[in-house]
Amino acid sequence: MEVDAIYNLACPASPIHYQRHPVQTIKTSVVGAVNMLGLAKRLNIPILQASTSEVYGDPKVSPQSEDYWGNVNPIGIRACYDEGKRAAETLFFDYRRKHDVNTGVFRIFNTYGPRMAKNDGRVVSNFIVAALADAPLTIHGTGWQTRSFCYVDDLVDGIIKFANSKEIGPINLGNPGEFTVDELATIIIQKVNKGYKEYVERTVDDPRQRKPDIGLAKQKLLWEPKTDLS
Ligand code: UDP
Repeated sequence: MEVDAIYNLACPASPIHYQRHPVQTIKTSVVGAVNMLGLAKRLNIPILQASTSEVYGDPKVSPQSEDYWGNVNPIGIRACYDEGKRAAETLFFDYRRKHDVNTGVFRIFNTYGPRMAKNDGRVVSNFIVAALADAPLTIHGTGWQTRSFCYVDDLVDGIIKFANSKEIGPINLGNPGEFTVDELATIIIQKVNKGYKEYVERTVDDPRQRKPDIGLAKQKLLWEPKTDLS
């Protein structure tokens, strides 16, 4: 294929989907990265990697800045995604050092927006779909775990700013507004005016907190999200 640049966004990102196909998931991230980096090298073109806040695992520091190395279980059910994306970052930096490939790595935090599949499985769309049906919003565990939710237009704007910069990353892209999953359920029930909470078992290795430090993106890309969760 002859192309001018590569944005490597391949890989299922919803836990229920990647956990259904763990071997294909890690192959997509690792073998896929090798293939795309080889293409970028041959064509001498820039290549960007969509990495993830999951490289921080169940973080012991908050907010997470790019220099935090993370806390990932290498053999758990999330590892196919977390370790796949971590190995892909390694490949991107080694291709830069060894083969002079023009690489960039950005780390996407939880993102939501229109046209997500109803069965995507991630929390924002799951809760909205449940509320609209006046069905239970299933909260995993206590609901005290936190996430920070970025609107898709803001994220895309950040990715384009990064692509047009000379930065190599890794750089966090996300919205630093932090909410518990329980708060998110309350907000959605109030807005839709339907639905109710139901507490189910906590999922294995579910990160307890997640909030991006976006100081680097603010400083280097003059970027920050504009759309708040509400
Ligand atoms: N979650 C939940 N109910 C759902 C879907 C997700 O309580 O129906 C929780 C999940 O356990 C996690 C958070 O919401 O703590 C975010 O999950 P999601 O699958 O959206 O993405 P993650 O950040 O875990 O990759």
